Amino acid sequence: MADSAEVVIIGSGPAGWTAAIYAARANLNPVLFEGPQPGGQLTITTEVENFPGFPEGIMGPELMQRFRTQAARFGTEIHSESVVEARLAGGAPFVVRSAERTITARTVIISTGATARLLHLPREGEFMGYGLSACATCDGFFFRNKRVMVVGGGDSAAEEANFLTRYAAEVTLVHRRDSLRASKIMSDRVLANPKVKARWNSEIVEYLGVPGKKLSGAKMRDTVTGSIEDVAMDGIFLAIGHVPNTALFTGQLPVDGKGYLTTVAGKTATNIPGVFACGDVQDAYYRQAISAAGSGCMAAIEAERFLEAMGH
Ligand code: NAP
Repeated sequence: MADSAEVVIIGSGPAGWTAAIYAARANLNPVLFEGPQPGGQLTITTEVENFPGFPEGIMGPELMQRFRTQAARFGTEIHSESVVEARLAGGAPFVVRSAERTITARTVIISTGATARLLHLPREGEFMGYGLSACATCDGFFFRNKRVMVVGGGDSAAEEANFLTRYAAEVTLVHRRDSLRASKIMSDRVLANPKVKARWNSEIVEYLGVPGKKLSGAKMRDTVTGSIEDVAMDGIFLAIGHVPNTALFTGQLPVDGKGYLTTVAGKTATNIPGVFACGDVQDAYYRQAISAAGSGCMAAIEAERFLEAMGH
C-alpha cells in the first residue's frame, strides 16, 4: 500500500471512477478513497436509462460496480474509507488522511459529489427512517399499499414518485409551484401515472406524528392562499435537490453562490495548482452521470499534464 501517490482521488461516483480509469491507464498508480457512500448517488437509484452504451438501461448499482471493476483492472489502489482531512491550502505535496492512513500526493482529484437536500424543519432528523426518507429506492419497499408523499418538482421527484407507485397505494407529488421543472418526458410520465396525484402550490411546514417512532403526516401550507391543512400520510419522501459535499475543503477552495467548488472555466483545475475537481461537487448545472464521468476524464488528463509539466 502506498503512503505517497502521484494522484489521490477522493470519491467514487462516475467522476471519481472515470478519473481513476484514466489515471491508472496513464501509469499514474492512482489511490482512490471511496468515501461514505461507495459508488455515489447512482447506488441509490433504480434503472439508468440515459447512460450511453446501455440501450436497454442498467441498474445504477450495477453500473457503478462496472466502473469500479474497470478502475481496479488497471491497478487503482482502492480504499473503502472516508477521507477525514485533506490538506491542500499549502500546495503540493498535499496530505490526504483517513482514519486508517495518511497519503501524501502530488495531485488531488476531488469527486466527492453531492448529498440529498433536506427541508430543515423541526424534528426532521428524528423522523428520518420512521416514515421520512430522502431515497425512494432505499425505502419504498416499506410502503406497500400505503399513502406516500414525494416533495419536489424536478426529475428526481418525478422519478421517485413513479418508482413509488410500484409499492404505494397512492402517491401525492407535492410541489411549491404550479408546474414541474422536471424534463418533459419525466413530467409527462409522472403526471399520466394513475396512482400519482399532484398537489400544486403546497409546502410542508411541520412533520406530524411521534418523532423517533412514526410519522403520521404533515402540516401543509398553500403557497398562494397561505391556508394550512393537516394531511395524513404514511410516508414522506424528500426529492428537493442536492448539496455539494465540500466540508473537507472549507476555507481552502473557493465555492460559488450555491456552495459548489469553482474551477477554471472549461477545465477542472481549481485555484490550487495540482488540485482538480470533477463531477457533482463542482457542477450545479448538468449533474448527470455521463457529464460527471466526462469531467472525471478531464481531471485525470489535466492531472497527468500537470505532473508532466512539473517534470514528474
Ligand atoms: P432539481 O432539478 O434542483 O429540483 C429540485 C426541486 O425541489 C425543484 O422543483 C425545487 O423547486 C424543489 N425544492 C428545492 N428546495 C425546496 C424546498 N426547500 N422546499 C420545497 N421544494 C424545494 O433537483 P433534482 O430533481 O434532484 O435533479 C438534479 C439534476 O439531476 C437535474 O439536472 C436532473 O435533470 C438530474 N436528474 C436526472 C434524472 C434522469 O434523467 N433520469 C433523474 C434525477 C435527476 P423549484 O422548482 O420551485 O425550484
